[in-house]
Amino acid sequence: MASPKRNLITGGAGFVGSHLVDRLMAAGEEVICLDNYFTGRKANVAQWIGHPNFELIRHDVTEPIRLEVDRIWHLACPASPVHYQHNPIKTAKTSFIGTYNMLGLARRVGARLLLASTSEVYGDPEVHPQPESYRGNVNTHGIRACYDEGKRVAETLCFDYQRMHGVEIRIVRIFNTYGPRMLPDDGRVVSNFIVQALRGQPLTLYGTGSQTRSFCYVDDLVEGLIRLMNGSHPGPINIGNPGEFTIRQLAEKVRERINPALELIYQPLPADDPLQRQPVIDLAREQLGWQPTVSLDQGLEPTIAHFRAALA
Ligand code: NAD
Ligand code: UDP
Repeated sequence: MASPKRNLITGGAGFVGSHLVDRLMAAGEEVICLDNYFTGRKANVAQWIGHPNFELIRHDVTEPIRLEVDRIWHLACPASPVHYQHNPIKTAKTSFIGTYNMLGLARRVGARLLLASTSEVYGDPEVHPQPESYRGNVNTHGIRACYDEGKRVAETLCFDYQRMHGVEIRIVRIFNTYGPRMLPDDGRVVSNFIVQALRGQPLTLYGTGSQTRSFCYVDDLVEGLIRLMNGSHPGPINIGNPGEFTIRQLAEKVRERINPALELIYQPLPADDPLQRQPVIDLAREQLGWQPTVSLDQGLEPTIAHFRAALA
């Protein structure tokens, strides 16, 4: 019988990372979860502490680390604008130096590395929907640049490590993903609206609420990550749900499920906030046989249930 794979998941105590930990642990693999707990929590992986296949390491990816692993799932990086703008220099450093360190580790031990890149590499897109071939429209010096440009240079580093050193890379461009275990104060729109509604507060729409996003349920994303890592295509490959909604439509969905009487209030649109976003997922369909299975209506239910329990 083949021995279980040794997986390193950076950012493994975070929202997406902890769901990936669950999937790999359930499959009987070995998992090293590495996190500095900036936006992650031990509670997200507490169910595995003490399991012989599981290790938890407090570490910051901006510092090198020596480990023996077969696969590196490199997710460490704050993803919510509120969090990544809290210390933008650290965010850029996490993406650049963090990815550089993990690629160095991958090279040393011959591990395959999957980078969690983002739809933000497309910036405020002038091409809609966005295929992987679109090169993007990012403001290099705006308040989102620390994250967007950080991920762009992380992609660059991956391809240069592949070309120069033969490191096996897999790059996923993740579109807005939501689900249980987002932090109540995460700042992203799905968690904000649900938490506001559960607290009986007005829902805060930035700008007119006519900007769009396409929301992917976390289980669908994790399935895509696993197929990408196990497949042979290096990417970049978009993983997201093409169902596109205005932010106002999302607010209506949340409020009708929790309290239809709640007010919608309007606040200023943050700088460089993309007007529209929807993934083209033809490549994921062809290369990974992947497509989303959970609609926004379906995925909101367990997400609301999570926050109801978390706030209780
Ligand atoms: P998250 O903030 O919940 O998780 C990020 C994790 O990385 C946290 O546990 C955090 O503590 C950890 N981390 C941050 N900086 C670190 C550092 N310097 N060293 C070690 N650990 C560090 O966010 P998420 O939504 O789970 O996102 C995970 C990954 O997916 C990120 O790389 C993000 O950019 C990418 N992504 C997510 C989305 C989404 O919608 N969720 C969209 C696009 C890309
Ligand atoms: N947004 C909003 N109200 C909120 C939080 C976010 O209207 O309370 C908007 C935000 O301006 C953006 C969209 O929702 O247009 C998605 O924001 P999020 O931070 O979730 O993700 P990103 O902008 O990074 O895609």
